[in-house]
Amino acid sequence: MRIAVFSDIHANRVALEAVLAVVAELQPDAIWCLGDVVGYGPEPEACVEIIAKRADLCLAGNHDLAVAGLVPLDDFSPDAAAAVRWQQPRLSPVALHWLAQRQPRLVQAGITLAHGSPRDPIWEYVLDAGAAAANLEYFDTQLCLIGHSHLAIAWRLQRQDEGTWVWVRLERRPPGETLDLTTTHRWLLNPGSVGQPRDGDPRASFALLDTEALTWTWHRVPYDVAAVDAAIRAAGLPWRLGRRLYSGQ
Ligand code: ZN
Repeated sequence: MRIAVFSDIHANRVALEAVLAVVAELQPDAIWCLGDVVGYGPEPEACVEIIAKRADLCLAGNHDLAVAGLVPLDDFSPDAAAAVRWQQPRLSPVALHWLAQRQPRLVQAGITLAHGSPRDPIWEYVLDAGAAAANLEYFDTQLCLIGHSHLAIAWRLQRQDEGTWVWVRLERRPPGETLDLTTTHRWLLNPGSVGQPRDGDPRASFALLDTEALTWTWHRVPYDVAAVDAAIRAAGLPWRLGRRLYSGQ
């Protein structure tokens, strides 16, 4: 099965539609979304509508649950909290209900999926080798797909010395170059962010997983950042949320 894996769309419809145009050419068997359809951006309703229709599966992210009123805003930055408050009254009851029905973690086709991490699926950022290693005991499949950090990276993991320590390696590949997963290692795989990349590349990010060949390929898709920045300003959302899209930070 070939699966297009998305995460962290963040109400950026322009980026999402650019990604879907590329995905249509790749003709995957399924589309999986790892959460955070809303938060930050100017078009939450459109993004919920598109994902509810097009994705075969979608997790809940911390922003989705915050907009649905299910988690508090205490741990959100001021700009993130402002965007949640702006989006809440602009979403239809149908969209809010759909968001509230999502789960932050599940196992599908023998693969673990979690928005943040298998250990703490709503909040944890897997940003370093220590966090990656600590998560190995929280999933028992070979592959675990995660989002939340907005970084297109993978962690290769293996227990050593009868489980006393975990060997970890960070893996990245340029867009279009395949990462070979046919090893005895286990993997935490992050497709990067569609709507607000933070790895220094402003292009929308997603990945293609081939579960038979056991390969993972990141893709980057340019989109009209200036149009989204203009929509963010016109909406009265914090201007920094538009500016950061130009640099992918
Ligand atoms: Zn996010």
